[in-house]
Amino acid sequence: EDIRVYEFAEKLKRPMSDIIKVLFDLGMMMTKNDFLGADEIEILSEEFGVEVTIIDPKDEFNYVEEAKADEDPNAVERPPVITIMGHVDHGKTSLLDAIRNAKVTEGEAGGITQHIGAYTVSQDGKDITFIDTPGHAAFSNMRQRGTDITDIVIIVVAADDGVKPQTLEVIKLAKESGKPIIVALNKMDKETANPDLVKGQMAEHGISPVDWGGDIEFVPVSAKTGMGIDDLLENILLTAEVLELKANPNAKAKAAVVESSLEKGRGPVATVIVQNGTLKIGDHVVCGAAYGRVKALINDMGKNIKSVAPSHTAVTVGLNEVPPAGEILMAMDSDKEAKEYALKRKEYERNKELSKSTKSSLEDMTAMIAEGKLKSLKVVLKTDVHGSLEAIKSSLSELRNEEVKIDIISSGVGGITESDVELVANSENCVLLGFNVRPTGSVKALAKQKNVDIRTYSIIYQLLDDITMMLTGMMAPKF
Ligand code: GDP
Repeated sequence: EDIRVYEFAEKLKRPMSDIIKVLFDLGMMMTKNDFLGADEIEILSEEFGVEVTIIDPKDEFNYVEEAKADEDPNAVERPPVITIMGHVDHGKTSLLDAIRNAKVTEGEAGGITQHIGAYTVSQDGKDITFIDTPGHAAFSNMRQRGTDITDIVIIVVAADDGVKPQTLEVIKLAKESGKPIIVALNKMDKETANPDLVKGQMAEHGISPVDWGGDIEFVPVSAKTGMGIDDLLENILLTAEVLELKANPNAKAKAAVVESSLEKGRGPVATVIVQNGTLKIGDHVVCGAAYGRVKALINDMGKNIKSVAPSHTAVTVGLNEVPPAGEILMAMDSDKEAKEYALKRKEYERNKELSKSTKSSLEDMTAMIAEGKLKSLKVVLKTDVHGSLEAIKSSLSELRNEEVKIDIISSGVGGITESDVELVANSENCVLLGFNVRPTGSVKALAKQKNVDIRTYSIIYQLLDDITMMLTGMMAPKF
């Protein structure tokens, strides 16, 4: 996928006109810069008798992943990775700080805690890693990218405040993730704390406390006094035990980025949590479109370390650019290999961008509607007189079908202007309609440059017909 007609022609070593003609004969109007979809590629490869393997760089990238870490016979126990979520002000930050402060002195003499986006503490000789990035952005980011590093979700609810809108959001997120949930009933030091009330509210939303016959542990804590922190950590370890989390420390490293930035003096840095293998200084790594060689690893105590074991975390120095949070970092056999993957990924992302910006014509929107990918069609409407403006507006508002609604984002009497074009260009899935008005040359030129289709009409029902056709995903291509 993501190959343009001309690139396909080059690959096949056939003249581009052949490709375009075959497509045309099959009723597909395409020009040299259009992207071919999987269907078209299939048809073309049949037509030209070639075998085409479609490689999504993402798949190819995943392909190098070893077998699932926990099915690896050499996998051994690894610490759990925890995400804390909850309503604002219910004490996520305080709890993360309290856990850290309570545990950090043990065995970490001399170090000064650093906020790097994740940290590891020890409880009863076992490690637990917490993701410590603001909000649950990292969690959502990673889930969107299919990077799932959280093993257990902790939902914090202030015992004096109860379930709030964001609590409901995180309950939903946590449930969707399928991860075990532990509830931390925070602010238990407060006189107004009412844990039973909170339990009732949580139970109403499907989070039933164990002591009420449910399956979710509710641990009373106070981030302020430190009460209950040990309980919470012990609960985490018990839950983790059941999960039998494993990784192979001898495999090639695979890690997830939880935070990243450009640092003065250090260049691009990324805090990673290792999912499998061991990340070492000197490793050749690729991380999305970034690559490099690990120059330094700095742990959450600000100390330089030589390697990072599974479920542990460190700031990685040595990438050539800043990777986004949620990206996967992988060790490669050589610098060459790492660079190749990074370049492929870059090309892939560039194509995605390009295809986004070139695919905004009415035909594409029609296709998206047909595929059910487009839920609302925006319209900018200009007419010659008030009467027709009102008539078209009211007809358009009746013209919604079940899946797609029409949203007139701007309308008015008068010629089509440059600002109309700008508005359409800056709005996704937006069409520019003119009734008895036409764009001037300079407006046309701008529209062309911005990839904006202007449709003009002088008969109302034709305008309505076109939009109806679009809504049913059947509009014929423009010639
Ligand atoms: P976040 O927005 O969820 O990260 O919440 P914070 O950790 O910033 O806490 C919000 C406020 O609640 C701060 O003023 C904290 O000092 C206070 N707070 C957090 N935990 C406790 C607690 O256990 N007891 C009391 N009394 N206050 C707390």
